[in-house]
Amino acid sequence: MNFYDELERMTAELRDARQNAGWEGANPARIEKRIRALLETKQQEMEITNKGGRTRPAYHPTTIRMHSNHCPHAVRLWKMNTPYDRSIFHTGVIAHAVLERIGYDPDTPPRDIADQVIEQYCSQGRSYDGNPEPPSPIPDAIEGANLALRWHERFPVPNGEGINHEEHFAFDEEWNEVPYHSPDARFRTMLDVVEITEEYDEATDGMFTKAVIRDYKSSWVANAKELDTFQRRCQAVVVWLRYKPDIIILEIANLRMRCHFRKEVNTHFEEDTLEQWRDDISTAIRTLDRPLKPNPGRGCVRCPYAQRCTHFDKMSRDGDVIRQYIAAKETVARLEPDVRKAMKDKEPVEGVGYHEKERKRTTPDAKRILLEEWTARDGTVEQLYAALEISTAAATKIAKSITDSRQDRDELMERITKPEIYASFGIKRKE
Ligand code: SF4
Repeated sequence: MNFYDELERMTAELRDARQNAGWEGANPARIEKRIRALLETKQQEMEITNKGGRTRPAYHPTTIRMHSNHCPHAVRLWKMNTPYDRSIFHTGVIAHAVLERIGYDPDTPPRDIADQVIEQYCSQGRSYDGNPEPPSPIPDAIEGANLALRWHERFPVPNGEGINHEEHFAFDEEWNEVPYHSPDARFRTMLDVVEITEEYDEATDGMFTKAVIRDYKSSWVANAKELDTFQRRCQAVVVWLRYKPDIIILEIANLRMRCHFRKEVNTHFEEDTLEQWRDDISTAIRTLDRPLKPNPGRGCVRCPYAQRCTHFDKMSRDGDVIRQYIAAKETVARLEPDVRKAMKDKEPVEGVGYHEKERKRTTPDAKRILLEEWTARDGTVEQLYAALEISTAAATKIAKSITDSRQDRDELMERITKPEIYASFGIKRKE
Protein backbone atom coordinates (compact mmCIF):
# COMPACT_ATOMS: atom_id res chain seq x y z
CA MET A 1 0.00 0.00 0.00
CA ASN A 2 1.45 3.40 -0.89
CA PHE A 3 1.63 6.45 1.32
CA TYR A 4 -1.57 8.12 0.10
CA ASP A 5 -3.68 4.91 0.23
CA GLU A 6 -2.47 4.30 3.76
CA LEU A 7 -3.19 7.88 4.79
CA GLU A 8 -6.70 7.64 3.31
CA ARG A 9 -7.34 4.40 5.13
CA MET A 10 -6.22 5.94 8.40
CA THR A 11 -8.35 9.01 7.87
CA ALA A 12 -11.39 6.82 7.15
CA GLU A 13 -10.70 4.82 10.28
CA LEU A 14 -10.53 7.97 12.33
CA ARG A 15 -13.75 9.32 10.80
CA ASP A 16 -15.61 6.08 11.52
CA ALA A 17 -14.28 5.95 15.05
CA ARG A 18 -15.41 9.51 15.67
CA GLN A 19 -18.89 8.86 14.25
CA ASN A 20 -19.57 5.50 15.79
CA ALA A 21 -18.02 4.86 19.13
CA GLY A 22 -15.76 7.68 20.16
CA TRP A 23 -12.01 6.94 20.11
CA GLU A 24 -11.76 3.64 22.03
CA GLY A 25 -12.22 1.10 19.24
CA ALA A 26 -9.86 2.78 16.79
CA ASN A 27 -6.91 3.21 19.17
CA PRO A 28 -6.20 6.83 18.24
CA ALA A 29 -2.71 6.81 19.79
CA ARG A 30 -1.68 3.98 17.50
CA ILE A 31 -3.21 5.69 14.47
CA GLU A 32 -1.52 8.97 15.29
CA LYS A 33 1.82 7.23 15.70
CA ARG A 34 1.40 5.45 12.39
CA ILE A 35 0.44 8.66 10.57
CA ARG A 36 3.46 10.42 12.03
CA ALA A 37 5.72 7.60 10.86
CA LEU A 38 4.22 7.77 7.37
CA LEU A 39 4.62 11.52 7.22
CA GLU A 40 8.23 11.23 8.33
CA THR A 41 8.94 8.64 5.64
CA LYS A 42 7.30 10.81 2.98
CA GLN A 43 9.24 13.84 4.13
CA GLN A 44 12.49 11.91 3.83
CA GLU A 45 11.62 10.83 0.31
CA MET A 46 11.01 14.45 -0.61
CA GLU A 47 14.26 15.56 1.01
CA ILE A 48 16.18 12.98 -0.98
CA THR A 49 14.54 14.11 -4.20
CA ASN A 50 15.19 17.76 -3.49
CA LYS A 51 18.81 17.58 -2.32
CA GLY A 52 20.79 20.11 -4.35
CA GLY A 53 18.34 19.83 -7.24
CA ARG A 54 19.57 16.26 -7.82
CA THR A 55 17.45 13.22 -7.91
CA ARG A 56 19.68 11.52 -5.35
CA PRO A 57 22.74 12.75 -3.50
CA ALA A 58 26.37 11.78 -4.05
CA TYR A 59 27.84 10.17 -0.96
CA HIS A 60 31.36 10.49 0.41
CA PRO A 61 33.13 7.79 2.41
CA THR A 62 32.73 10.05 5.46
CA THR A 63 28.95 10.19 4.94
CA ILE A 64 28.77 6.43 4.70
CA ARG A 65 30.90 6.19 7.83
CA MET A 66 28.43 8.42 9.71
CA HIS A 67 25.89 5.63 9.38
CA SER A 68 28.10 3.16 11.23
CA ASN A 69 29.93 5.53 13.58
CA HIS A 70 26.83 7.44 14.65
CA CYS A 71 23.41 6.47 13.29
CA PRO A 72 21.31 6.49 10.10
CA HIS A 73 19.64 9.73 11.17
CA ALA A 74 23.03 11.50 11.03
CA VAL A 75 23.07 10.73 7.29
CA ARG A 76 19.56 12.08 6.98
CA LEU A 77 20.64 15.33 8.66
CA TRP A 78 23.56 15.49 6.23
CA LYS A 79 21.15 15.08 3.31
CA MET A 80 19.17 18.00 4.67
CA ASN A 81 22.35 20.13 4.65
CA THR A 82 22.08 20.57 8.41
CA PRO A 83 25.11 22.56 9.58
CA TYR A 84 27.29 20.43 11.81
CA ASP A 85 30.05 20.90 14.29
CA ARG A 86 33.39 20.80 12.50
CA SER A 87 35.32 22.46 15.32
CA ILE A 88 37.22 19.25 16.06
CA PHE A 89 38.57 19.24 12.51
CA HIS A 90 40.27 22.65 12.38
CA THR A 91 43.78 21.44 13.17
CA GLY A 92 43.62 18.66 10.58
CA VAL A 93 42.04 20.93 7.96
CA ILE A 94 44.87 23.48 8.25
CA ALA A 95 47.56 20.78 8.22
CA HIS A 96 46.07 19.31 5.03
CA ALA A 97 45.78 22.72 3.37
CA VAL A 98 49.42 23.61 4.14
CA LEU A 99 50.70 20.27 2.82
CA GLU A 100 48.60 20.57 -0.33
CA ARG A 101 49.91 24.04 -1.10
CA ILE A 102 53.50 23.04 -0.42
CA GLY A 103 52.97 20.22 -2.89
CA TYR A 104 51.73 22.55 -5.61
CA ASP A 105 54.07 25.44 -4.85
CA PRO A 106 57.52 24.01 -4.07
CA ASP A 107 59.25 27.35 -4.84
CA THR A 108 57.64 29.35 -2.02
CA PRO A 109 59.17 28.87 1.44
CA PRO A 110 56.91 26.47 3.43
CA ARG A 111 56.73 28.87 6.39
CA ASP A 112 55.30 31.60 4.10
CA ILE A 113 52.73 29.14 2.76
CA ALA A 114 51.75 28.15 6.29
CA ASP A 115 51.32 31.82 7.27
CA GLN A 116 49.16 32.48 4.21
CA VAL A 117 46.95 29.50 5.01
CA ILE A 118 46.56 30.55 8.65
CA GLU A 119 45.65 34.11 7.65
CA GLN A 120 43.13 32.97 5.07
CA TYR A 121 41.49 30.18 7.09
CA CYS A 122 41.31 32.21 10.31
CA SER A 123 39.78 35.26 8.60
CA GLN A 124 37.61 33.88 5.79
CA GLY A 125 37.08 30.22 6.66
CA ARG A 126 36.89 27.90 3.73
CA SER A 127 34.41 26.22 1.47
CA TYR A 128 34.28 22.43 1.60
CA ASP A 129 32.48 20.76 -1.27
CA GLY A 130 30.56 23.97 -1.89
CA ASN A 131 29.57 24.37 1.78
CA PRO A 132 31.05 27.40 3.53
CA GLU A 133 32.75 26.70 6.86
CA PRO A 134 33.47 29.25 9.60
CA PRO A 135 36.96 30.67 10.23
CA SER A 136 39.32 28.52 12.30
CA PRO A 137 40.49 29.53 15.78
CA ILE A 138 44.08 30.83 15.58
CA PRO A 139 45.63 28.36 18.12
CA ASP A 140 44.16 25.38 16.23
CA ALA A 141 45.41 26.81 12.94
CA ILE A 142 48.93 27.33 14.30
CA GLU A 143 48.96 23.78 15.65
CA GLY A 144 47.82 22.42 12.27
CA ALA A 145 50.40 24.46 10.36
CA ASN A 146 53.20 23.32 12.69
CA LEU A 147 52.16 19.71 12.26
CA ALA A 148 52.42 20.13 8.49
CA LEU A 149 55.78 21.93 8.61
CA ARG A 150 57.32 19.35 10.93
CA TRP A 151 56.08 16.59 8.65
CA HIS A 152 57.49 18.32 5.58
CA GLU A 153 60.84 18.73 7.33
CA ARG A 154 61.11 14.99 7.83
CA PHE A 155 59.25 13.74 4.74
CA PRO A 156 59.40 16.48 2.07
CA VAL A 157 56.08 16.75 0.24
CA PRO A 158 56.63 15.34 -3.26
CA ASN A 159 55.72 17.24 -6.42
CA GLY A 160 56.02 16.80 -10.15
CA GLU A 161 54.59 14.62 -12.85
CA GLY A 162 52.22 11.89 -11.71
CA ILE A 163 51.75 13.45 -8.27
CA ASN A 164 48.42 14.96 -7.39
CA HIS A 165 47.37 16.63 -4.18
CA GLU A 166 43.70 16.76 -3.14
CA GLU A 167 42.74 14.71 -6.18
CA HIS A 168 38.98 14.61 -6.86
CA PHE A 169 37.03 11.53 -7.91
CA ALA A 170 33.34 11.09 -8.76
CA PHE A 171 31.40 8.15 -10.16
CA ASP A 172 27.83 7.55 -11.24
CA GLU A 173 25.64 4.63 -10.20
CA GLU A 174 27.25 2.32 -12.79
CA TRP A 175 30.76 3.30 -11.72
CA ASN A 176 31.44 5.45 -14.77
CA GLU A 177 33.63 8.42 -13.97
CA VAL A 178 31.80 11.75 -14.08
CA PRO A 179 32.92 15.34 -13.38
CA TYR A 180 33.19 15.97 -9.65
CA HIS A 181 30.14 18.24 -9.48
CA SER A 182 28.07 16.27 -11.99
CA PRO A 183 24.42 15.82 -10.96
CA ASP A 184 24.87 12.15 -11.93
CA ALA A 185 27.57 11.61 -9.32
CA ARG A 186 26.60 9.04 -6.69
CA PHE A 187 29.97 8.63 -5.03
CA ARG A 188 32.62 11.28 -4.48
CA THR A 189 35.88 11.48 -2.69
CA MET A 190 39.06 13.53 -2.47
CA LEU A 191 42.41 11.92 -1.80
CA ASP A 192 45.22 13.78 -0.04
CA VAL A 193 48.02 12.57 -2.31
CA VAL A 194 48.09 10.16 -5.24
CA GLU A 195 51.46 9.30 -6.74
CA ILE A 196 51.49 7.35 -10.00
CA THR A 197 54.85 5.99 -11.14
CA GLU A 198 56.10 3.52 -13.71
CA GLU A 199 58.66 1.15 -12.19
CA TYR A 200 60.88 -1.62 -13.42
CA ASP A 201 60.29 -5.15 -12.17
CA GLU A 202 63.38 -7.36 -12.31
CA ALA A 203 61.41 -10.57 -11.95
CA THR A 204 59.37 -9.99 -15.10
CA ASP A 205 61.86 -7.68 -16.82
CA GLY A 206 59.00 -5.32 -17.50
CA MET A 207 57.48 -2.09 -16.29
CA PHE A 208 54.54 -1.87 -13.88
CA THR A 209 52.35 0.97 -12.66
CA LYS A 210 52.40 1.75 -8.97
CA ALA A 211 49.89 4.00 -7.25
CA VAL A 212 50.63 5.34 -3.77
CA ILE A 213 47.57 6.69 -1.96
CA ARG A 214 48.64 8.83 0.98
CA ASP A 215 46.16 9.85 3.65
CA TYR A 216 47.38 12.46 6.13
CA LYS A 217 46.06 11.90 9.64
CA SER A 218 46.40 14.43 12.43
CA SER A 219 45.19 12.05 15.14
CA TRP A 220 47.60 10.30 17.49
CA VAL A 221 45.59 7.11 17.23
CA ALA A 222 45.87 6.68 13.44
CA ASN A 223 47.87 3.47 13.12
CA ALA A 224 48.09 0.30 11.02
CA LYS A 225 44.47 -0.54 11.86
CA GLU A 226 43.49 2.41 9.65
CA LEU A 227 44.74 0.48 6.64
CA ASP A 228 41.77 -1.83 6.67
CA THR A 229 38.87 0.55 7.03
CA PHE A 230 35.96 1.29 4.74
CA GLN A 231 37.53 4.65 3.87
CA ARG A 232 40.77 2.99 2.80
CA ARG A 233 38.87 0.53 0.65
CA CYS A 234 37.03 3.39 -1.03
CA GLN A 235 40.37 5.01 -1.82
CA ALA A 236 41.76 1.82 -3.32
CA VAL A 237 38.63 1.36 -5.46
CA VAL A 238 38.61 4.86 -6.98
CA VAL A 239 42.33 4.80 -7.83
CA TRP A 240 41.99 1.30 -9.25
CA LEU A 241 39.12 2.42 -11.47
CA ARG A 242 40.86 5.58 -12.71
CA TYR A 243 44.47 4.48 -13.16
CA LYS A 244 44.27 0.69 -13.46
CA PRO A 245 47.60 0.36 -11.61
CA ASP A 246 49.30 -3.00 -11.05
CA ILE A 247 50.16 -2.22 -7.45
CA ILE A 248 48.40 0.05 -4.99
CA ILE A 249 50.17 1.16 -1.84
CA LEU A 250 47.73 2.37 0.79
CA GLU A 251 49.55 4.67 3.16
CA ILE A 252 48.59 6.34 6.44
CA ALA A 253 50.83 9.32 7.18
CA ASN A 254 50.52 10.05 10.89
CA LEU A 255 51.49 13.72 11.15
CA ARG A 256 51.81 13.70 14.92
CA MET A 257 53.90 10.56 15.28
CA ARG A 258 55.72 11.40 12.05
CA CYS A 259 55.60 7.87 10.73
CA HIS A 260 53.92 5.87 7.94
CA PHE A 261 51.86 2.72 7.90
CA ARG A 262 51.59 0.95 4.57
CA LYS A 263 49.74 -1.90 2.92
CA GLU A 264 50.17 -3.23 -0.61
CA VAL A 265 47.33 -4.38 -2.84
CA ASN A 266 48.22 -6.30 -5.99
CA THR A 267 45.33 -5.41 -8.28
CA HIS A 268 45.75 -8.60 -10.35
CA PHE A 269 45.85 -11.06 -7.46
CA GLU A 270 43.22 -9.12 -5.52
CA GLU A 271 40.84 -8.12 -8.28
CA ASP A 272 37.97 -10.02 -6.65
CA THR A 273 38.60 -8.16 -3.42
CA LEU A 274 38.55 -4.78 -5.19
CA GLU A 275 35.33 -5.72 -6.98
CA GLN A 276 33.82 -6.74 -3.66
CA TRP A 277 34.86 -3.42 -2.09
CA ARG A 278 33.28 -1.55 -5.03
CA ASP A 279 30.05 -3.57 -4.61
CA ASP A 280 30.06 -2.82 -0.88
CA ILE A 281 30.08 0.90 -1.70
CA SER A 282 27.15 0.38 -4.09
CA THR A 283 25.24 -1.43 -1.35
CA ALA A 284 25.97 1.41 1.06
CA ILE A 285 24.70 3.95 -1.50
CA ARG A 286 21.44 2.04 -2.02
CA THR A 287 21.01 1.72 1.75
CA LEU A 288 21.53 5.44 2.36
CA ASP A 289 19.04 6.26 -0.40
CA ARG A 290 16.30 4.68 1.67
CA PRO A 291 14.37 6.41 4.45
CA LEU A 292 16.64 6.30 7.50
CA LYS A 293 15.52 5.69 11.04
CA PRO A 294 17.20 7.35 14.01
CA ASN A 295 19.01 5.12 16.45
CA PRO A 296 20.02 7.33 19.38
CA GLY A 297 22.49 5.64 21.71
CA ARG A 298 26.25 5.37 22.03
CA GLY A 299 26.66 6.62 18.46
CA CYS A 300 25.56 10.04 19.75
CA VAL A 301 28.91 10.47 21.54
CA ARG A 302 30.94 12.78 19.29
CA CYS A 303 28.13 12.86 16.71
CA PRO A 304 28.59 16.16 14.84
CA TYR A 305 24.79 16.63 14.72
CA ALA A 306 24.10 16.06 18.44
CA GLN A 307 23.45 19.77 19.02
CA ARG A 308 20.75 19.89 16.36
CA CYS A 309 19.23 16.47 16.73
CA THR A 310 15.79 16.18 18.31
CA HIS A 311 16.34 12.47 18.99
CA PHE A 312 19.42 13.32 21.02
CA ASP A 313 17.39 15.87 23.00
CA LYS A 314 14.73 13.26 23.68
CA MET A 315 17.35 10.79 24.81
CA SER A 316 18.80 13.28 27.27
CA ARG A 317 15.37 13.56 28.91
CA ASP A 318 14.72 9.84 28.71
CA GLY A 319 13.83 8.02 31.97
CA ASP A 320 16.47 5.41 31.11
CA VAL A 321 19.52 6.14 33.23
CA ILE A 322 21.99 4.60 30.75
CA ARG A 323 20.68 6.64 27.83
CA GLN A 324 20.77 9.76 29.98
CA TYR A 325 24.37 8.91 30.85
CA ILE A 326 25.29 8.60 27.15
CA ALA A 327 23.67 11.98 26.44
CA ALA A 328 25.49 13.59 29.35
CA LYS A 329 28.81 12.12 28.19
CA GLU A 330 28.34 13.55 24.70
CA THR A 331 27.49 16.97 26.14
CA VAL A 332 30.61 16.91 28.32
CA ALA A 333 32.82 15.65 25.47
CA ARG A 334 31.59 18.53 23.30
CA LEU A 335 31.86 21.27 25.91
CA GLU A 336 34.99 20.29 27.78
CA PRO A 337 37.63 21.42 25.25
CA ASP A 338 36.03 24.90 25.10
CA VAL A 339 35.60 25.14 28.85
CA ARG A 340 39.23 24.05 29.39
CA LYS A 341 40.42 26.71 26.97
CA ALA A 342 38.18 29.39 28.48
CA MET A 343 39.32 28.65 32.04
CA LYS A 344 43.03 28.50 31.35
CA ASP A 345 44.90 30.92 33.66
CA LYS A 346 41.62 32.00 35.27
CA GLU A 347 39.96 31.53 38.61
CA PRO A 348 37.29 28.77 38.63
CA VAL A 349 33.72 29.91 37.99
CA GLU A 350 30.98 28.04 39.88
CA GLY A 351 33.74 25.62 40.92
CA VAL A 352 34.54 24.84 37.27
CA GLY A 353 38.13 25.37 36.22
CA TYR A 354 41.64 24.45 37.29
CA HIS A 355 42.12 23.67 40.99
CA GLU A 356 45.33 23.15 42.84
CA LYS A 357 45.73 19.60 44.07
CA GLU A 358 48.58 17.92 45.80
CA ARG A 359 50.17 14.71 44.65
CA LYS A 360 53.42 12.97 45.48
CA ARG A 361 56.22 12.67 42.91
CA THR A 362 59.56 11.02 43.42
CA THR A 363 62.49 13.42 43.66
CA PRO A 364 65.31 13.29 41.07
CA ASP A 365 67.60 11.59 43.62
CA ALA A 366 64.96 9.07 44.80
CA LYS A 367 66.60 6.20 42.91
CA ARG A 368 70.02 6.95 44.38
CA ILE A 369 68.69 7.24 47.95
CA LEU A 370 66.73 3.99 47.64
CA LEU A 371 69.77 2.16 46.31
CA GLU A 372 71.96 3.53 49.11
CA GLU A 373 69.44 2.56 51.79
CA TRP A 374 68.98 -0.88 50.22
CA THR A 375 72.70 -1.66 50.02
CA ALA A 376 73.26 -0.21 53.54
CA ARG A 377 70.98 -3.03 54.70
CA ASP A 378 73.08 -5.59 52.79
CA GLY A 379 70.57 -5.93 49.93
CA THR A 380 71.96 -6.65 46.46
CA VAL A 381 71.01 -4.85 43.26
CA GLU A 382 69.44 -8.08 41.95
CA GLN A 383 67.24 -8.31 45.04
CA LEU A 384 66.23 -4.69 44.67
CA TYR A 385 65.41 -5.27 41.02
CA ALA A 386 63.34 -8.33 41.92
CA ALA A 387 61.45 -6.28 44.48
CA LEU A 388 60.51 -3.60 41.94
CA GLU A 389 57.21 -3.61 40.08
CA ILE A 390 57.88 -2.50 36.52
CA SER A 391 55.00 -0.77 34.78
CA THR A 392 54.47 -1.24 31.03
CA ALA A 393 55.39 2.43 30.54
CA ALA A 394 58.71 1.93 32.39
CA ALA A 395 59.43 -1.27 30.46
CA THR A 396 58.76 0.54 27.17
CA LYS A 397 61.15 3.30 28.18
CA ILE A 398 63.91 0.82 29.00
CA ALA A 399 63.22 -1.14 25.80
CA LYS A 400 63.54 2.09 23.82
CA SER A 401 66.94 2.88 25.25
CA ILE A 402 68.43 -0.60 24.76
CA THR A 403 67.23 -1.34 21.21
CA ASP A 404 68.36 0.18 17.92
CA SER A 405 65.21 -0.08 15.83
CA ARG A 406 61.47 0.04 16.18
CA GLN A 407 61.26 -3.58 15.10
CA ASP A 408 63.73 -4.74 17.81
CA ARG A 409 61.83 -2.77 20.41
CA ASP A 410 58.50 -4.23 19.33
CA GLU A 411 59.97 -7.74 19.44
CA LEU A 412 61.36 -7.18 22.92
CA MET A 413 58.05 -5.75 24.13
CA GLU A 414 56.27 -8.72 22.61
CA ARG A 415 58.45 -11.01 24.76
CA ILE A 416 57.97 -9.14 28.03
CA THR A 417 54.30 -8.17 27.85
CA LYS A 418 51.09 -10.09 27.36
CA PRO A 419 47.56 -8.90 26.71
CA GLU A 420 45.18 -8.99 29.62
CA ILE A 421 41.44 -8.48 29.63
CA TYR A 422 40.11 -6.21 32.33
CA ALA A 423 36.87 -4.33 32.99
CA SER A 424 37.19 -0.72 31.89
CA PHE A 425 34.18 1.45 32.72
CA GLY A 426 32.83 3.82 30.08
CA ILE A 427 31.06 3.95 26.72
CA LYS A 428 32.55 1.75 24.04
CA ARG A 429 32.54 3.83 20.87
CA LYS A 430 31.14 2.26 17.71
CA GLU A 431 33.98 0.85 15.60
S1 SF4 B 1 22.80 12.70 17.82
FE1 SF4 B 1 22.40 10.51 18.02
S2 SF4 B 1 20.36 10.18 17.19
FE2 SF4 B 1 21.05 12.18 16.51
S3 SF4 B 1 21.96 11.84 14.53
FE3 SF4 B 1 23.61 11.72 15.99
S4 SF4 B 1 23.78 9.57 16.52
FE4 SF4 B 1 21.79 9.84 15.54
